[in-house]
Amino acid sequence: MSRIYNFSAGPAMLPEEVLQEAANDMLDYHDSGMSVMEMSHRSKNYDQIIKEAEADLRKLIGIPDNYKVLFLQGGATLGFAMIPMNFMFNGKIDLINSGVWTKKAMKDAKLYGEVNIVASSEEDGFKKIPDLKGIKFSKDADYVYICDNNTVYGTKYKEYPDTGDIPLVADMSSCFLSEPIDVKKFGIIFAGAQKNVGPAGVTIYIIRDDLLAKPAPRPLPAYLDFRIHAESQSLYNTPPTYGIYMCGLVFKWLLRTGGLEFRDKNNKEKAAILYDYLDQSSFYIPRVEKASRSLMNVTFTTPSPELDAEFLEGAKKYRFTNLKGHKSIGGLRASIYNAMPLDGVRALVKYMKEFEEAHK
Ligand code: PMP
Repeated sequence: MSRIYNFSAGPAMLPEEVLQEAANDMLDYHDSGMSVMEMSHRSKNYDQIIKEAEADLRKLIGIPDNYKVLFLQGGATLGFAMIPMNFMFNGKIDLINSGVWTKKAMKDAKLYGEVNIVASSEEDGFKKIPDLKGIKFSKDADYVYICDNNTVYGTKYKEYPDTGDIPLVADMSSCFLSEPIDVKKFGIIFAGAQKNVGPAGVTIYIIRDDLLAKPAPRPLPAYLDFRIHAESQSLYNTPPTYGIYMCGLVFKWLLRTGGLEFRDKNNKEKAAILYDYLDQSSFYIPRVEKASRSLMNVTFTTPSPELDAEFLEGAKKYRFTNLKGHKSIGGLRASIYNAMPLDGVRALVKYMKEFEEAHK
C-alpha cells in the first residue's frame, strides 16, 4: 500500500486510522454479519450509529440543546436553496459577499426574495474577507448570510459580524471542525462533509430551534422542509447511511486525539509552515491578505501560469496531488484539512524550495 499526499479541496484526505477502521468493519460490522452499507436505516445497529454520531458531534463542538443537528443530502449546494426556502420569512436577507460560494448562495436566495449585499470584497479580487466595520444590517432581514471559509480563494473570517438579534447563517463547508465553534453565535451552521468530516454525500446542519419553530413561509416538498427532517431526527427518508457512519468514525477520532482545541493548534502549525515560507519567498506570491488567510486552503502562484503548470507537473514526481487552484482563479492551492499530516506540509515546502531554487 502506498498512500499519497492529497492536497484536494474536497473530497479530501481522511485520517488513515479511520479508513482502516472502516476497512476492518467492511464485511461484518460488529458481528452483524453485514456491512454498514447493507444495513437498514431502521435497524438497531444503525440507530446506534446515527445516534452516536450526533452525540459525539454535540460533545466535540459543545452544541447547545436548543439546536438540532441534521445529517442530510444534496451537498452545501442544496443548502443554498433550502435555507432561503425555509427561513426567508419576510423575504429579505443580508449577505456578505466573499466570492464564488456566496454568489451561488445569493443566486438561489434571490428566487425567494431580496438579497441585500451589505459588504463585499469583490473590488479587491476576493483577496480578503470583506471589511466588517460599519456594516449596517437591515432591521427586517430574516438572516445574515456568510461563507466562513471561502475554499476557492482561501479566505477565512477571524471574527464574525455582530448581527444582534438577526440570525447569522454560515456556510462552514471548508472549515467545519478545524477549530472550536461557538455555536450560539449562529442561527444556522451548515457544511458538506467531504473536506474535514467524511465522504461526499452528507451535509450537516446545525439549526437553532426558534427558526424551526416558525411555520415554513411557503409550501415545501417534504424533503426540502427542515422541520420534517428535524422531527424525524434525519430519518424521514433513507439518509446517507454509510457516509454518516464514516462521519461518526471521524468524530470519534477527533474526540480521542485532543478535540477541536488540538485541531486548531495543529492546523495553525501546519498553515504557518506554508505561509511563513511563502512570505519570505521572493518567487511565490501568496494570494490572500494576511488578516484573512484560511488555515485550510492555502492559495498562491509562481511568477507565471507557465511556471504554475510546471510546478504541478513536477509535484507528480513527489506524489503530491490536487495542487491546482480552482478553475475560476487558476494558480495553486494546497488544501490542508485536519487529516493532512504535518509531514505532508513539510514535504510540500521542501519541494517548493527545490522548485524555487531551480527556477528563480
Ligand atoms: N460551500 C463551500 C465553501 C464549498 O467549498 C463548496 C464545495 N467545494 C460548496 C459550498 C458546495 O458544496 P457541495 O459541492 O457539497 O454542494
